[in-house]
Amino acid sequence: MRISRRDFMKIAAASAALAAIDWDRVVRAAAQAVGKGKYNIIWFEAQSCTGDTSALLLATDPDILQVLAGHLHAVGPGTVNLAFHDAVMPEWGKSAMDILYRAVAGELDPFVLVVEGTIAVDEKAGGPPGSNYWCYVGKEHGEPVSCLEWIRRLMKRAAAVVAVGNCSSYGGIYSNRVIEQEFFKKYGFTAFLEYPKLGRSMSPTGCVGFLDNKAKGFKGLLSLLGEEAEPYRRFLEGRDCKLLQNCKPFVSVPGCPANGDATLKTLAHVVLALEGLMPLTRDQFDELARPKYFFLETTHNNCPRAGHYAAGRWRKYPGDGSQYCLWGVGCKGPVSHCPWNRLGWVSGVGGCVRQGSVCMGCHEPGFSDSFEPFYEKLPYVFASTKDLFNALVGAAAAAAVIGVASGALAYLKSKRGGSHA
Ligand code: SF4
Ligand code: SF4
Repeated sequence: MRISRRDFMKIAAASAALAAIDWDRVVRAAAQAVGKGKYNIIWFEAQSCTGDTSALLLATDPDILQVLAGHLHAVGPGTVNLAFHDAVMPEWGKSAMDILYRAVAGELDPFVLVVEGTIAVDEKAGGPPGSNYWCYVGKEHGEPVSCLEWIRRLMKRAAAVVAVGNCSSYGGIYSNRVIEQEFFKKYGFTAFLEYPKLGRSMSPTGCVGFLDNKAKGFKGLLSLLGEEAEPYRRFLEGRDCKLLQNCKPFVSVPGCPANGDATLKTLAHVVLALEGLMPLTRDQFDELARPKYFFLETTHNNCPRAGHYAAGRWRKYPGDGSQYCLWGVGCKGPVSHCPWNRLGWVSGVGGCVRQGSVCMGCHEPGFSDSFEPFYEKLPYVFASTKDLFNALVGAAAAAAVIGVASGALAYLKSKRGGSHA
């Protein structure tokens, strides 16, 4: 594969940007800002497997205990205010709900809203009767308060929104097309078949992420919520935008799950920007609101196996024991964006392709059904000009065969027609 000068400059600029950030200083300063009680974090979990929280607990630089217990040098003990996180906070029941009500009432301003999980469409947003029960937290007047309703209320007051994980960013695995349609039809549940016409995913819960998902063909919350989401859309679309005035940052840390270090560091960036200590501009993020300092380059560009790719040495079958490139057995690295094969998943260790698994494209809107089967090559990605040439020759040969066959048929037809004449 040839790298153009432009691509080379882009890679060099991205590496320099990542290397230039003093993350220790950034994270400590952010923790101090939060520790002073200036910013609260509300971590809201919608439909989710809690994988992003599990990954957050694996963060090492700093780790979550250092943050929560204030063991960072610059912060006193117990000062960081993760105001709400249902998986790790000690409060439960009414005292947990009170935190959400206080946040909605403005008593926890300013706060950053972190959303984990995909968001089921509720009755208010046009879901069928009973859909408020698909994802809800607490009840009011005997009726469930849906996750979407909480997110709406919290978005209004939040200073910024951070979508963590593929689900919250683009809808995730839950928004895959339904394969077992016959099973649902048997029990009379067919409403979801109409969801694509309404701009929602074809999942029984019609769930969506914040961003439009062009790969799967449905709208995200930022589009569906109209006026309510205007300050975040203004940021995303790069329109006339002044932070904290007419514009609120919307940032995405994708992945299935999102990497814990990436989540903490991106959160640190957002808090510092709100505090006026660090710039936060639209051009620091790509078109899917992913911080470029992590996600500018493809998994492939970051891959230690890229030398084998360039040399045309590919694994013949999954697990064949070679160090060769995994493109031949279905790697989606060329179309996905993550740095974990270079940086390591935890403390510099791990990363899918490094460990011998193909990249499944978990940082992209198409994940997972657009990239399945995971161990088959994408038909539209070619590993080399030779590969492309073979595909073209194959197509040309097929076209020629079809051409010859249809010519022969036409000839036979004309002959038959002639004999009848
Ligand atoms: S293993 Fe995947 S990401 Fe790595 S070089 Fe091969 S195709 Fe690219
Ligand atoms: S290598 Fe691919 S599957 Fe693994 S984390 Fe990165 S994008 Fe996801």
